Amino acid sequence: MPYFNYPVIFDVLVVGGGHAGCEAALAAAGLGMKTLLLTQDLDTIAQMSCNPSIGGVGKGQIVREIDALGGRMAAVADLSALSAHMLNTSRGAAVRSPRVQCDKRMYQSAMKHSLELAGNLALAQDEAAQIWTEGSALRGVITARNTRYRSKTVILTTGTFLKGVIHIGLSSFRGGRYNHPPSDGLSPSLEALGFKLGRLKTGTPMRLNGRSIDFSKCEEQKPDEPPPPLSHFTGRHGRKLLSCWITRTGERSAGIIRANLHRSPLYSGRIKAAGPRYCPSIEDKIVKFPHHPTHILFLEPEGFDTGEYYVNGLSTSLPEEVQLELLHSVNGLERAELIRAAYAIEYDYSLPVQLDYNLEAKLLPGLFMAGQINGTTGYEEAAAQGLMAGINASLKVRGGDPFILGRDEAYIGVMIDDLISKGVDEPYRIFTSRAEFRLLLRQDNADLRLMPHGFRLGLIPGKFKKNFERYQNAVERSGSRREPQKHGAEKRPQRADDDMAPWTRAGAEACGRITKEYGGYITRNLREAERMKHFEHVRIPEKLDLSAVKGLCLESRQQFLKIRPRTLAQAARIPGVTPADIQLLWVHVTRKLRPPQADGVSRRDEG
Ligand SMILES: Cc1cc2nc3c(=O)[nH]c(=O)nc-3n(C[C@H](O)[C@H](O)[C@H](O)COP(=O)(O)OP(=O)(O)OC[C@H]3O[C@@H](n4cnc5c(N)ncnc54)[C@H](O)[C@@H]3O)c2cc1C
Repeated sequence: MPYFNYPVIFDVLVVGGGHAGCEAALAAAGLGMKTLLLTQDLDTIAQMSCNPSIGGVGKGQIVREIDALGGRMAAVADLSALSAHMLNTSRGAAVRSPRVQCDKRMYQSAMKHSLELAGNLALAQDEAAQIWTEGSALRGVITARNTRYRSKTVILTTGTFLKGVIHIGLSSFRGGRYNHPPSDGLSPSLEALGFKLGRLKTGTPMRLNGRSIDFSKCEEQKPDEPPPPLSHFTGRHGRKLLSCWITRTGERSAGIIRANLHRSPLYSGRIKAAGPRYCPSIEDKIVKFPHHPTHILFLEPEGFDTGEYYVNGLSTSLPEEVQLELLHSVNGLERAELIRAAYAIEYDYSLPVQLDYNLEAKLLPGLFMAGQINGTTGYEEAAAQGLMAGINASLKVRGGDPFILGRDEAYIGVMIDDLISKGVDEPYRIFTSRAEFRLLLRQDNADLRLMPHGFRLGLIPGKFKKNFERYQNAVERSGSRREPQKHGAEKRPQRADDDMAPWTRAGAEACGRITKEYGGYITRNLREAERMKHFEHVRIPEKLDLSAVKGLCLESRQQFLKIRPRTLAQAARIPGVTPADIQLLWVHVTRKLRPPQADGVSRRDEG
């Protein structure tokens, strides 16, 4: 079949309309790039494949960072919020995190509408089947319907769809998500270009009809009052929010799982790929924690206009009849109607060590990757990478320097550095423990840390600048004030003050108080971060022959050749690399970087 050559040359072409793709497309279009978002199905834009919630520990910090850089996720989550909580309020400031439960459909349509309204952005429904190259140069993509889209840069954000296979009990079938076709063409196309792919697994719990749940046997979890917004630009939530409910599995549930383990694709060996250890299926929890008599389950509404409930904590790939028996063994769920079965999915991902700090492929300049294709899991992780890839593809087109965030600046910086330096052996999600400077990277100061970048890049409207500066000053004043502030200021209704809106005085006081309370630790973190920066500045030239470094142990040599670190600091973070090998590499690099000496005669003269 002959090609149809689409009559526009794009600056940035984004493949996939999931959480990474939406942020990538909006960022590129916002930076003035002629952008195309190409996705398999426009009706599934920003679909939440699993739990319709945004934020959580570590993730809440990332969403506020996305927002501070001009991303859309936090505002859309607030707009569609049906329940909201600040987690860990009784613990240290570094781990306090906002989480919002969303109306799933409302989230999707609000994000789709943002895309439809964005200037410079075109949408198209088709499947990218091949990366289009000529010689060693990227040209764009070729779709399943044989359309050739030409673009200066391409961002792949294909999520769980590459060669996706779904498992329910011992039956398996192809799919990128339940009832959605997988994407089979891109994997061979990437492999033909020399990319190494791996396989990962994730899973989702069952959904119930709410009318069949006996809520009188469950514990109510009311939304926070006032609900904490995710976006710096959201005022008060206008709608009355809903409660979530708590129940638990018991001895009978454990017995049902043990009796049916041989029917689980996980335990029968049918699923081979690694899943997230920190988010285990219920069969994993029963097998690995036999001394726990119960496991907590959260029943979370999926929308205002639906009775569907998500059973958080009951992810499984056991056969459907076992799922039903298991549900009926739980307090309050004795008569529960199972309306969507839980399932597991295996899919291809591209080894993220093949990317540079700007998320561009080292093998094929102009090709960027973001989201689950890089081995991560989670909407927030995907959106953050999408935003960074969108910004960096645009900067590449403009001929500007890449936009890279440090590990001491943002969780986004921690995540990208982890991915490209260490790679993944299970789906990667962000935790506060992944950051060495987590007191610097709090949810309450994401705007102070990153909004100046948002203004500079042009992704945050300049009209907010004055009020932001007033807020910065108010935080500083409140952090240096002598008298202790009363705790719980952040729990007071946060009315925006006109000269500071959308920021509030209560918010400034809360942030200033934390800075003061943790002053000693924060100073220590800052000092350590400064020390690390020294190594960040020692760049390893791209063409340097790393096999020529003498005396390295075999593992370090192999890791250096595989990952090709860009800085000495990145080399030091690679797993298996010893401090002694870093010294050797340092000596080698500085020797190579030294300007050529004058000839032997002049050196003898100096002596
Ligand atoms: C069953 C399941 C369970 C999950 N469980 C969890 C969980 O417990 N916790 C958690 O944090 N995350 C979970 N996730 C992961 C979460 O859904 C993803 O991390 C997140 O959606 C990734 O965002 P993304 O933008 O990278 O990809 P996705 O949201 O998957 O979006 C990819 C988009 O790309 C499109 N696409 C794919 N290939 C092509 C192509 N060739 N051409 C055009 N368009 C294409 C798809 O149609 C889709 O719109 C789960 C996902 C699934 C499927």
